[in-house]
Amino acid sequence: MNPFDTPIEYLKGVGASRAEVLKKELGIVKFDDLLKFYPYKYIDRTKFYKVRDINPDLPYVQLIVRVTRKEVLGENRSKRLVAQAQDDTGVMELAWFQAINWVEKGLQVGKAYIIFGKPGMFNGKPQMSHPEMELYSSQTRDRKGNMTMQPAYNSTEKLKQFSLDSKGLQKLTASLLELHTKDIYENLPLYIVNRYRLMSRQDAFRNIHFPEDANKLAEAQHRLKFEELFLLQFKLLKNKMLHTQKFKGNIFDKVGEYFNTFYNEKLPFPLTNAQKRVLKEIRVDTQRGVQMNRLLQGDVGSGKTVVALMSLLIAIDNGFQTCMMAPTEILANQHYQTIKALVGDDFVEVGLLTGSTKKKERNILHERLMSGELKILIGTHALIEDTVQYKNLGFVVIDEQHRFGVEQRSKLWRKNVVPPHVLVMTATPIPRTLAMTLYGDLDVSVIDELPAGRKPIETVHFYESQRLRMFGMMREEIAKGRQVYVVYPLIQESEKLDLKNLEEGIEVMRHEFPLPKYNISIVHGKIQAAVKEEEMQRFIAHKAQIMVATTVIEVGVNVPNASVMIIENAERFGLSQLHQLRGRVGRGAEQSYCILMSGNKLSHDGRKRLDTMVRTNNGFEIAEIDLELRGPGNIEGTQQSGVLDLKIANIATDQELLIQVRKCVEGIFEKDPQLALPEHQVLHQANLSKQAGLSWDKIS
Ligand code: ADP
Ligand code: MG
Repeated sequence: MNPFDTPIEYLKGVGASRAEVLKKELGIVKFDDLLKFYPYKYIDRTKFYKVRDINPDLPYVQLIVRVTRKEVLGENRSKRLVAQAQDDTGVMELAWFQAINWVEKGLQVGKAYIIFGKPGMFNGKPQMSHPEMELYSSQTRDRKGNMTMQPAYNSTEKLKQFSLDSKGLQKLTASLLELHTKDIYENLPLYIVNRYRLMSRQDAFRNIHFPEDANKLAEAQHRLKFEELFLLQFKLLKNKMLHTQKFKGNIFDKVGEYFNTFYNEKLPFPLTNAQKRVLKEIRVDTQRGVQMNRLLQGDVGSGKTVVALMSLLIAIDNGFQTCMMAPTEILANQHYQTIKALVGDDFVEVGLLTGSTKKKERNILHERLMSGELKILIGTHALIEDTVQYKNLGFVVIDEQHRFGVEQRSKLWRKNVVPPHVLVMTATPIPRTLAMTLYGDLDVSVIDELPAGRKPIETVHFYESQRLRMFGMMREEIAKGRQVYVVYPLIQESEKLDLKNLEEGIEVMRHEFPLPKYNISIVHGKIQAAVKEEEMQRFIAHKAQIMVATTVIEVGVNVPNASVMIIENAERFGLSQLHQLRGRVGRGAEQSYCILMSGNKLSHDGRKRLDTMVRTNNGFEIAEIDLELRGPGNIEGTQQSGVLDLKIANIATDQELLIQVRKCVEGIFEKDPQLALPEHQVLHQANLSKQAGLSWDKIS
């Protein structure tokens, strides 16, 4: 057994009860988990500060001070221990709010201490709360040299009760490394270690916990990040390889009637170059005899639907059925309408299947699917229920992938003997590095060009005081015959408050835009489905000029005549959501506007989001900033995937490294797909997944 699989209980100094809290509080179960429980920062303990020089802007500092007075103040919850301390430059205060009696007992007035902590300011005096204290002697002072960069580990109150504060954890790690450094083996091919000048694995783990100096620490961090990203990409690309080897793909060797008729007679506009390029990529993919798994990225309005449709037509030309899956009924409906309108009547049979399809219709659909007459089926995930059987399914489009798990994708693969080709379309662009990880097993196509003649949406940011201007813009546009969306956030945690906001907003709108001249349709989650549909239809039919809605309209609605998108409390929306909402306008030939309304008080991130929206319409750029602001953990789709459970690397800040690593891993598989070369044997080692700290079962 690998020594690092040993339960943590058996590490010297742990035992059953500490093992229990380590598991509960930090998820540390085995030696390996402790080895990879990295410090969250390092503290320079070579320098001693003077009282005169400390201020709240400094990080953790240490001083040598003499305690001159101590006193317990207050009662119950406000009880605290306050001590006065000084050196030859000034006086400061030390304070404790917990473990008061215990600290008070040990604290000796008149003695000198090395104190260590985060400086603050209280009543104009320098202050430090809960400092680490150690009696000062010339010995303690001289000892500093052996720990120039002291690791600090995250701990919890619970752990502290078991003496597992940062220092306690540090001791455990020290003892683990002392006993087992020799058992840390190299897990990357040696030529890779050399080529990329990586620190050896043993040195890396030693230095990540107990750095010899700042350079060594940086090297250790680099090595461990490299390794983590390497293992991640290795697994993804290996899955992709295995997949390609395992699944044959239908060969679409011709382009026939359906495609050509559509292209020559029905397509209402010339394709953009980007659309053509993507179609070619799909064309090449579907002739190789290997199942296609392709991700299609493109900004809102870049025209993904028509590309999808034309791919379906090629499949149909080759004798196959197709389907297109959307995350919501509204969107499925919209796709159905769009595609019906594009292909026209009597051209190809298109069906719609969602949760609300009546049993009778459903049965008819099932029959026509089995007979093969129904060529294009559009719907929600109702499409992949086991009861839905196809005669010969050959091509599947999944729109807005991040709401579907990979599991569902693989469910589709099983819908035919030879699995259908799969084209996944993302609703919002995601940064390249994130795509590499989230969809690492897919090939990626990008539509990076908007159809010609489209006017970029003009975005402005207004504060509450500019609301009258907003009304003015609305009136102007409505007078020109355009329509307006007004969107409110409706977020679970504060739903009541949001609902109140929304209702008040509706009142104000009704007052500003009264009947009979103006008609407002209202759509939000608290409205019955049937009524919602009616309200939507009223807006689509231009019987209402204004639609007040919550984010239900985020996906799906396509009303080219709408030219203004107003987002209330815009500071509360995420960037990708703002971008997505804005994409609801600018679909016609007219100049469109997006008005971001916000309160006067904005957080740093809130301001950056709004500024970004005003500055650019480029979805890819927005996605990058979103990733930067929120970190990968908060980007939609990443949580379920589990692939971002990284311990040291960060997809947002280590993008360059990730790209380098990806290339490196691709190179390995190109050169040696079976990993048969001697230098690659190390990659066969079991439990690669565990080393990466990831749960692969979720993604394969
Ligand atoms: P998205 O990529 O957001 O799904 P859609 O496929 O809904 O975009 O396309 C947005 C709009 O642009 C649709 O009304 C569509 O008909 C139109 N469109 C698509 N491609 C072109 C093109 N090449 N030229 C002009 N208009 C196009
Ligand atoms: Mg779309």
